Amino acid sequence: MDSTTAERRYRAFLAAAQLRHPWQFRCPGQSDEHDGVQVDVPPGWYGVLESLFQEVEAVMPVAERDGFRWRRLCARHAMLEVAFDGLRDPVSPRVVEARERAAVTCDVCGHPGARREVAGRYAVNCHRHFIQRLLRCHPEGESGARIWWDTPQPALGGRSPAAYMEAGPPSEVLIEQALRLAMPPVPWLDASNRQRLQGAWPVLDEALGERLRSLRVAAFEPPSGRGGTLIAMMAGHADPSAQAAAVTRLARNGFSDLRLRLVGQADLASPAVAADPWACMLALEASVSVPRAQPDQSFLVR
Ligand SMILES: [Zn+2]
Repeated sequence: MDSTTAERRYRAFLAAAQLRHPWQFRCPGQSDEHDGVQVDVPPGWYGVLESLFQEVEAVMPVAERDGFRWRRLCARHAMLEVAFDGLRDPVSPRVVEARERAAVTCDVCGHPGARREVAGRYAVNCHRHFIQRLLRCHPEGESGARIWWDTPQPALGGRSPAAYMEAGPPSEVLIEQALRLAMPPVPWLDASNRQRLQGAWPVLDEALGERLRSLRVAAFEPPSGRGGTLIAMMAGHADPSAQAAAVTRLARNGFSDLRLRLVGQADLASPAVAADPWACMLALEASVSVPRAQPDQSFLVR
């Protein structure tokens, strides 16, 4: 979809919503200038919002409608953010449901999807649109991606990815291939970078405990100032609840330039269906090991 078509669709969506549910977008007593509702969601989520507007229409008592208005309906880090004025009780549970629906709805096409990373950015996508995002990272750009897309491949039974995808939903094999293609170069660590990264070991030992098996680093380019991705390989499956505390510990110990990803060793067998396919493939194909430092160089800040 080009940007003009996208803009037109967005305006049509908003105009239709305001026409159907005018009271949800109005703020009595204020001029139009102050009346704007901040709306910024991708097209795949329009249906989620339309359902939300209809549900609120159904549950809001007429007497309370004057005090109600949406303030903010936005996508942030691939999650739906909603803010509104007015009676909370009937609306809040509907907002929670809408957020949950958005979290599993492709933000491009509205089909079922999952929230996944590609090169540091998150989006909720169906398999098909996840592959499209991956192809945008092709090292040889759009033309490289197009050639790959149209070239028959043995792993796909001699068919091209384009033909393969036409025949049905993308398989794990195809997703894995697209992931592999999109990987950044394997980083090279000089002695000082290696030494610095080794300082993350005691911090993560403390935060993640004995399930931490090894550490790897990917997309690490200190001169670019973009930091890198630190991958903590965990026994079994990764437990996302351990992540937040570990990220905080890393930041307190001077590693806020590194994005931490937890990858379960069990997930490596099928990265395409893992919770975090991008980090899995980084671990397999595009990262280097950070060896444990010899003791004792750590001064932990708790
Ligand atoms: Zn999609």
